[in-house]
Amino acid sequence: MARDIGLGVRQPEEACSDANCPFHGSLPVRGQVITGKVVSDRMMGTVVVERDYLHYVGKYNRYEKRSSRIHAHNPPCIQAKNGDTVKIAECRPLSKTTTFVVVEVQQS
Ligand SMILES: [Zn+2]
Repeated sequence: MARDIGLGVRQPEEACSDANCPFHGSLPVRGQVITGKVVSDRMMGTVVVERDYLHYVGKYNRYEKRSSRIHAHNPPCIQAKNGDTVKIAECRPLSKTTTFVVVEVQQS
């Protein structure tokens, strides 16, 4: 039985034996929850998630589009792929650049 991580997200259907899985391992999630799009799944167990946001430029009274990229751990039971819209949650640092974990692939 998977753990309830307290975010109101769907439980993954498969089980996995990843210690860094928030559902089947012992990785607590806390802090920010962000929705973004997977732009690279080429790393082992990690995906790159891009987030678009608007930044206001006062001089022109308009918004400019900006984006940021976040590395997120991709547990084997979730298996997010390129192009997926995913929900990622903040966790403890898992590596030098990874402090988020994928908790849900959003259905289109
Ligand atoms: Zn898992």
